[in-house]
Amino acid sequence: MKMPKTVRKYCPYCKKYTEHKVIRVKAGARNRRALAWSERQKKRRTKGHGGSGRFSKPPAQKKPTQKVDLRYQCMECKRQHIIGKGFRVKKFELE
Ligand SMILES: [Zn+2]
Repeated sequence: MKMPKTVRKYCPYCKKYTEHKVIRVKAGARNRRALAWSERQKKRRTKGHGGSGRFSKPPAQKKPTQKVDLRYQCMECKRQHIIGKGFRVKKFELE
């Protein structure tokens, strides 16, 4: 899928339609679940002696296509925000 580098979108800060720069955030740049309860439990359970319990099971396979994480930067107020949800595409390009 190809997408233009700038699009006209609604800016919630300016409260009007302005030009937005499309920014693609690299997937897996930051682990959002690092402090989630299940992640902390896994760390606790898998250290030291003894089995890992339910964490012995290998994690689920990755899906064939990953969601793209897009941010929109308003050209007027220079603030970034997310419009809508991510979508699954095999190839994604900004032109
Ligand atoms: Zn704005």
